[in-house]
Amino acid sequence: MSEFEPVIGLEIHAELQTASKMFCGCPVVDSTSAEPNTAVCEICTGMPGTLPVINRRAVEYAVRVALALGCQIHPTSVFARKNYFYPDLPKGFQISQYELPLATDGALKYLVDGEAHIARIRRVHLEEDTGKLFHNEGYSLVDYNRSGVPLLEIVSEPDLHSVSEASAYATAMRIILQYLGVNSGDMEKGVIRFEANVSLRRKDSQDLNTRVEIKNLNSFRAMARSIAHEIERQSGRLSSGLPVEQETLGWDEARQVTVPQRGKEEANDYRYFPEPDLPPLAVSSGWIDEIRRDLPELPLAKRQRFMEEYHLPADQADVLVGDRAVAEYFEAAVGAAGDALPEKVGNWLTGELFSLLNQAGVSLPDSPIEPAALADLVRRVEDGEINASTGKDVLDEAFRTGRTPSAILQAADLSQENDPATIGRLVDRVIQDNPKQVETYLLGKETVAQWFFGQVMRASQGRANPQIVRSELNRALSGLRPEQ
Ligand code: ADP
Ligand code: MG
Ligand code: ZN
Repeated sequence: MSEFEPVIGLEIHAELQTASKMFCGCPVVDSTSAEPNTAVCEICTGMPGTLPVINRRAVEYAVRVALALGCQIHPTSVFARKNYFYPDLPKGFQISQYELPLATDGALKYLVDGEAHIARIRRVHLEEDTGKLFHNEGYSLVDYNRSGVPLLEIVSEPDLHSVSEASAYATAMRIILQYLGVNSGDMEKGVIRFEANVSLRRKDSQDLNTRVEIKNLNSFRAMARSIAHEIERQSGRLSSGLPVEQETLGWDEARQVTVPQRGKEEANDYRYFPEPDLPPLAVSSGWIDEIRRDLPELPLAKRQRFMEEYHLPADQADVLVGDRAVAEYFEAAVGAAGDALPEKVGNWLTGELFSLLNQAGVSLPDSPIEPAALADLVRRVEDGEINASTGKDVLDEAFRTGRTPSAILQAADLSQENDPATIGRLVDRVIQDNPKQVETYLLGKETVAQWFFGQVMRASQGRANPQIVRSELNRALSGLRPEQ
């Protein structure tokens, strides 16, 4: 297989999580949990005589993505009908964009093992999602809640050359969509789906050879595995002198193989033509500028800034910027922590707090521990007021009860005692209460000092700072010896 280089182009379908659907007023609902066919109307179920209306917010979201990918946004683009028949498509056609898409000619920069790669973006266009079919024994059911949900299609150039590049590209895209606030990135809910186009070529060539298209990939794993499988299958064929057929494939999750679905359809199979019920989509440059002004800092820029501003190691910065909510929580905590070390705050966040969240199945935005509370706890540990193990206990309790670490520490009085005067009084009392041991000590049995130490720690219920106990004990014991 090493004589061939994979050539991969990805088509990413991302639902735009607007309040309402692409061409009607129906709400966009979670299609994995909502009661089937409860968010439908005559428009999104394709009744005759209805007219679609373009959702302005969906266009705004699409422009956001196109800008983030550095695309050229066309002042006028055109919706087209893509005709095909399938029970999840009630109109018998999907409204999409074809000849004149919203945006073209962008690029996505992404990292593979910390190294920057770039894939060119061919086009970004708007369309509508289909319904969902549920196949049962002998019959199928259809849910049209998803029918007409705004869908963004992002098509790369065939610039990806390995499974890891394809995965890293897709991951970077998912995070950008999440940063832009247009898509939750929640793969389990099917809000992002992939199609992978795969061909092989000789390592020294620039050819674009016959490709296959793998449809309906709903997870990163399925995408990576199906591409890997295709690379293997195609190189097997090419090595034995067999051609690769152009075809559309599916991914058989159970058998972990690609399976032919149908011969590759050509554009003219769809009989595309401009959607007569919609005007051309006009996007003014003023509006584009407005949207550009409101773009958030994007993941790679944030990663760079975190490394420079907070002196974070690259792998920690990667984890923190991998989710916008995590990055924002981190910065809020660092802001509140004052001089506490950002790296420490990051460690407590991605270590202790993440594990509590995972165990409880709670997401960070719903964390019962506020950034300032985490910062406060980290500061106390860093100042030596409590040790790390007490810190973990306190965080655990804060998480379970929703109380702040400082309230818990005050109430339980778990905080370490660091005041020499207080500890000194404790030492003096232990010495007064144990004249026999003092006598033994004065007779030369120095190991009794260790016994006194244990008594003082016990008297403080383990809270006294051990170093201060030792020095106070030395002071007190040496004061017992008669002056010489
Ligand atoms: P279609 O409309 O048939 O899906 P496109 O021309 O829009 O075809 O391309 C779809 C995807 O296929 C794009 O991501 C593109 O980069 C990719 N692609 C095109 N040619 C090849 C090839 N020879 N090998 C791998 N991917 C390819
Ligand atoms: Mg395609
Ligand atoms: Zn509707």
